[in-house]
Amino acid sequence: MTAYMEHKNLANEVIDEARSRQIADNVRRALDRVATAEAEAGREMGAVRLLAATKTRDVGEILAAIDAGVRMIGENRPQEIVAKAPGLAKRLAERGFALGTDPAMVEPVEHIPFHLIGQLQSNKIGKVLPVADVIESVDSIELAERIARRAVARGITVGVLLEVNESGEDSKSGCPPSHAIDLAQRIGAMGGLELQGLMTIGAHVDDERVIRSGFAHLRRTRDLILASGTEGTEHCVELSMGMSQDMDLAIDEGATIVRVGTAIFGARDFI
Ligand SMILES: *Cc1c(COP(=O)(O)O)cnc(C)c1O
Repeated sequence: MTAYMEHKNLANEVIDEARSRQIADNVRRALDRVATAEAEAGREMGAVRLLAATKTRDVGEILAAIDAGVRMIGENRPQEIVAKAPGLAKRLAERGFALGTDPAMVEPVEHIPFHLIGQLQSNKIGKVLPVADVIESVDSIELAERIARRAVARGITVGVLLEVNESGEDSKSGCPPSHAIDLAQRIGAMGGLELQGLMTIGAHVDDERVIRSGFAHLRRTRDLILASGTEGTEHCVELSMGMSQDMDLAIDEGATIVRVGTAIFGARDFI
């Protein structure tokens, strides 16, 4: 259990009016930023989905973001998913939404994708699969095989993105860019998984050109994977790249999902 989880009740469902308004204003600003960046890049409206990165946020804060227009959620830690998913699923059902793969919702009015965006240790796969519909942080054949085995045993298909360490920074997870095409083709061939695209975290530098070149390289890699025509890679269309700081650049370079935390919820108290 991470230390901050002892400070904050992540299952809390009630937040005050001012906090709720602050989150709603931030969501509107983030959605505007996405729309502006799409327009400036000459991309179709709605080509980019806003994923709210909800680590350290409680159920009440996440519901405020959804009530303001967020339609995709990403969690980093399996323990946080376990703490929040039951309350979130219940409150979303009242609003006519299904959370991730929620089996209780037979005919949801609308489905809210629930992604895992943080690193996954193999002993935690069982905590994640009941709710998460996409695991964005798959970066090795071994991890993909373990998820695939669990998915097949459950009789489900799990969406996965291959995480690529485009910046080469040691602090980051992700496979080396030179392995990405081979790994994608092998993951695409696994039963129980659907390879839906690629994910990366932008370089932690000030130089815009460096950040852009990582995003552009991820896009070219995705295009090469699709062009390979290898069976199981035909759905490899998503590019999950761009966060609060660099989402505009990422959208210009072809992002289809931007993962935004701070710009929606404010600075994090923990981690
Ligand atoms: C926290 C996090 C984000 C969002 O970062 P912000 O800078 O708060 O927008 C995006 N992706 C991953 C993998 C994260 O862990």
